[in-house]
Amino acid sequence: MLYIDGEWRGAASGSSFEVINPATGESIGDVADGTRQDAADAILAASGGFSGWSRFTAFERAEYLYRAYQLMMERKEALARLMTEEQGKPLKTARNEVQYAADFFLWYAEEAKRTYGDVLPAPRSDQRFLVIRQPVGVVAAITPWNYPVSMITRKVAPALAAGCSIVVKPAEQTPLCAMEVFNVIHDAGIPAGVANLIVTADPAPIGAEFVENPAVAKITFTGSTEVGTMLAGRAASQMKRLSLELGGHAPFIVFDDADPAYAAKGASLVKFLNTGQACISPNRIYVHKTIMEPFLAVLEERVSRLRAGNGLADDTSIGPLVDHAALEKVDHQVQDAVGHGARLHSGGHRLTDGGLDRGFFYAPTVLSGVTPEMEIYNNETFGPVAPVISFTDEVEVLALANRTTYGLAAYVYTQQLGRAMRMFEELNYGIIGVNDINPTAAAAPFGGMKHSGVGREGGREGIAEYLETKLGGFSV
Ligand code: NAD
Repeated sequence: MLYIDGEWRGAASGSSFEVINPATGESIGDVADGTRQDAADAILAASGGFSGWSRFTAFERAEYLYRAYQLMMERKEALARLMTEEQGKPLKTARNEVQYAADFFLWYAEEAKRTYGDVLPAPRSDQRFLVIRQPVGVVAAITPWNYPVSMITRKVAPALAAGCSIVVKPAEQTPLCAMEVFNVIHDAGIPAGVANLIVTADPAPIGAEFVENPAVAKITFTGSTEVGTMLAGRAASQMKRLSLELGGHAPFIVFDDADPAYAAKGASLVKFLNTGQACISPNRIYVHKTIMEPFLAVLEERVSRLRAGNGLADDTSIGPLVDHAALEKVDHQVQDAVGHGARLHSGGHRLTDGGLDRGFFYAPTVLSGVTPEMEIYNNETFGPVAPVISFTDEVEVLALANRTTYGLAAYVYTQQLGRAMRMFEELNYGIIGVNDINPTAAAAPFGGMKHSGVGREGGREGIAEYLETKLGGFSV
């Protein structure tokens, strides 16, 4: 169903599409297939919603966001189960995602009250300068399937806190999670028109309406660099504000002064999280030559303990890929690497035994001897493959790590303070984990450099993305 102007309704076309559980291949629902006309209706509703919402006090807006936080926490278990069924991740990690998603409502309920202005020294004695921050207006948001709840609240919460209204188009793979987020928004009493939802099987016409409709002041997009670049180009003709959270190709560097077992544990946890379908997933694991053997031994041992299956089962530690195309892409990268001389330590094939053939499961895979000639060295994998590369020198590995068009996340394992600081400063990435595999939180700015995007989500930076700065000069 679509949520427009405070009401649930079908698509203008009357058509619908099926939602598939990636662990079983079975249909788990049928939802309205929104059209460009529906998107235009939602933008109109958001324009109406903006005029009232933007005049609420920050304290009033915060109350609504706080209610949304409480409701999401009350519904945590149900939302997590739905996410596991629709997206595939194990229930425990789905619960973590709902918590992370709810945290954005709480954090921005608080930040709404801190969109301070400034009083500046003016050059003339009879002049006063005042700076205020105002909401940008109607926001159009496009979100991905890999984090189907938190990627919505990471945009909706700061937009609403700032006083903007919003239209959200979630990924076609995960519309049910999006609808549950909007049930929370509805039940929190957020006024009609302030937040609207268009689910669809065909994103292109909705994207076209978002970039061409002059009532949309800002586009916020999370997804592939390819689609983000296309939307940014088209939005430029109307000079729309833009925030883009795009793809990544994270280096994970383990120096010879690090504990190889501890680093391998970290690598296995972050690499196979969400079956490798995370924009901050390591895609090049650089390990110092002298500790390669113990590192690989621990990595292989941990990978051998991963249990693939339906995320609702207690013993499942890794879920399926999102669809068949993802399976093919991952397998192609693995076969290409092996064909170019990489050594396969584990995995390297689709999983089919025990009914797994009904879903999209790929065996957790470890490759070593990965080189720049291989596709996996250069292109985002978005799957459960750990490509390991040997290095000998700090200057060399820093140059290799930075030699990519991406710039989202990077990880460094070292016990030397000076080296840690050098890496933190010199790596051209927006997020650096130093002996840390989870440098993310609602309170922290998340985002990338170079082709990984523009702008930040989360933290105090996150709300600034939805505010215009206005200067007033007063003669007295
Ligand atoms: P994708 O770009 O195909 O899809 C993302 C969203 O864009 C979906 O909602 C999809 O429906 C929509 N979309 C696709 N074509 C469109 C079009 N022509 N017009 C308008 N919207 C369109 O990406 P994907 O492959 O499904 O998702 C994975 C990508 O997302 C990866 O590259 C990953 O790194 C990235 N990602 C980035 C972050 C981040 O915060 N940087 C977070 C999660 C995922």
